[in-house]
Amino acid sequence: MKAAIYKEIGKIEIEEVSNPVLTDDEVLLRVEVVGICGTDIKTYKRGHPLFRPPCILGHEVVGTVVKVNTVADNELLGRKFAIPPYLGCGECEFCKKGFSELCRNKIWINGAFVEYLVVPTGLIRRTMAEVDMEINDAIATLTEPLACVIHGIERIKPREQERILVIGAGPMGILASILLRNRNNQVFLSEINENRLALAQTMKFETINVNMVSLTDFSSKMGKFDHIIVANDSTDAVIEAFNCVKPGGKIELFGGMSRSSRLSIDPYYIHYDEIDLIGSFGFSDQDFRNAFQELKIHQNMYVKLITGEFNLNEIEKAFQAAANPSNLKIVVRIS
Ligand SMILES: [Zn+2]
Ligand SMILES: [Zn+2]
Repeated sequence: MKAAIYKEIGKIEIEEVSNPVLTDDEVLLRVEVVGICGTDIKTYKRGHPLFRPPCILGHEVVGTVVKVNTVADNELLGRKFAIPPYLGCGECEFCKKGFSELCRNKIWINGAFVEYLVVPTGLIRRTMAEVDMEINDAIATLTEPLACVIHGIERIKPREQERILVIGAGPMGILASILLRNRNNQVFLSEINENRLALAQTMKFETINVNMVSLTDFSSKMGKFDHIIVANDSTDAVIEAFNCVKPGGKIELFGGMSRSSRLSIDPYYIHYDEIDLIGSFGFSDQDFRNAFQELKIHQNMYVKLITGEFNLNEIEKAFQAAANPSNLKIVVRIS
């Protein structure tokens, strides 16, 4: 079968590899479509400690079950699912508390830019995100990133009508904004890239162009925000967020920052203003199921995120497009 092998920074090549072999608690998936994630792009552009070449990237996957190894799994044959890239073990202290994103024994899938992928049956059975006639399969690849967004918003627990600032109008920032708007929050999206600002405006979001006005100036004139989600990797944005959030509000580090980053924060805000600085990473089984339902209900809103579709042979072109900030989400059609 064909696989897209990440060979080195800036280089992915299609190669012929042997077909995967199934064990009893796995099924074989014919991969249909895979979304390119921010992590994939970072790895392609500058390397990643967890994904060292040669390896296969891709984890936002929709595929059809084409082979099973037990009679009990026959019912899955021919059905198409959005697959979570990992699930918690279900048995450790974190999984038992419902924090499966913190599980240290997660079950992971392999890289999905391949024609056929082996998937532990449990990942399908615990989420059952079946891509039927009611949902487009390219949109269903957004289940994983939207699950991460749902997880982040669950950790803030905003009330209806609260004003929320999302810093960064990349795919994750836009996903968060659509979801918050659907939940009746007032959303403001700040961004530095003009193309992304224009895209956010076509989606009728209130935007703040930080080339023209600082967030501190904007919030002192227009009012502070109840909560702020930092959906990029800028430590400066986090520090500035403290000037812009109301007492009692939450600032969430939603974007991953490098290990060498440091934050220097005035503890006055945390003590006297009771501002919480919180983080969010990954998703639980329930977040994944909720994300799939949300996509089904509001497909017409989320479809705008997908700004390009390529086939497997064009994988390098797809990555170059995904790395261009004029695009939001790029998907790769495998079969
Ligand atoms: Zn992802
Ligand atoms: Zn666990």
